[in-house]
Amino acid sequence: MTMDGQWYTEEWAGQGSAISLKITRKLHDEQSPYQRIEIYDTENFGRLMTLDGLVMVTDRDNFIYHEMMSHPALFTHADPKSVLIIGGGDCGTLHEVLKHPVTEVIQVELDERVTRVAEQFFPALTASNHDARARLRFADGIAWVTEAAAGSLDVIIVDGTDPIGPAAGLFSEAFYKSCWRALRPGGILAGQSESPLFHADLICAMHGALRAAGFADVRTLPFAQCTYPSGWWSTTLAAKGTTLDRIREQATNARPFNTRYYNLAIHQSAFALPQFLRERLDGQEGAS
Ligand code: SAM
Repeated sequence: MTMDGQWYTEEWAGQGSAISLKITRKLHDEQSPYQRIEIYDTENFGRLMTLDGLVMVTDRDNFIYHEMMSHPALFTHADPKSVLIIGGGDCGTLHEVLKHPVTEVIQVELDERVTRVAEQFFPALTASNHDARARLRFADGIAWVTEAAAGSLDVIIVDGTDPIGPAAGLFSEAFYKSCWRALRPGGILAGQSESPLFHADLICAMHGALRAAGFADVRTLPFAQCTYPSGWWSTTLAAKGTTLDRIREQATNARPFNTRYYNLAIHQSAFALPQFLRERLDGQEGAS
């Protein structure tokens, strides 16, 4: 990360490219036990949160990511009642999940400071934190899901940081095996799966690890996300003992609740993969 006068720049590691946002004010800067947390006011993107110099959330475009991390999985599951979010410290994913008639959402975020800072600077994202169905826990999500009761969850959403440091294990076969065990039959996992353009190797490795962990159907859904590396991001869904091509009728109703990006057509079209990624995944799955 560099601050050049009024510009906040995140260099995209190893890609010879970067994103810059014009800053008007720095609002917060602290070193938590896990990472550096900074908050800025920007000229055109509202507030910005960075963790260890990487863009996490802006007011302007976070809705795309948080809706795509939540609604495809929740409208695919036949009747989602108990949901686990791993990571998700800014609470935007939690806010979206609670739009559904779930009975309980447990959020296991490693760094409590991320949530407390988000509560101070992103009131819209944290508006549901006191919902009676929300259970905010602050711990390592890998250990938490390993100890979770077998067959106790309907949906697991892995809203972690990039696969480095404490988040690296969130992309491993061992972790996915723990998730598979914690899910009931018919359960759905959704994991943020980075950039199709920059991180196709990681996406292929995720598919391999998810299938080795027992998930029968695995699909990556790309979507535009302008402030993340390459401007193109993705979520990867995995189904336990069911398929991902059934979208519950509620998604087809005239929008059961307010969204700004997600709708049925977006969900259905997101399964269409760019040819380069489709060939990589077909080749891999054909080989397995
Ligand atoms: N949208 C962001 C992205 O795609 O990179 C993710 C946002 S969210 C802030 C990521 C959160 O994952 C961070 O708050 C971080 O503390 C948390 N995290 C990283 N590793 C974790 C782990 N092992 N268990 C629980 N939370 C973790």
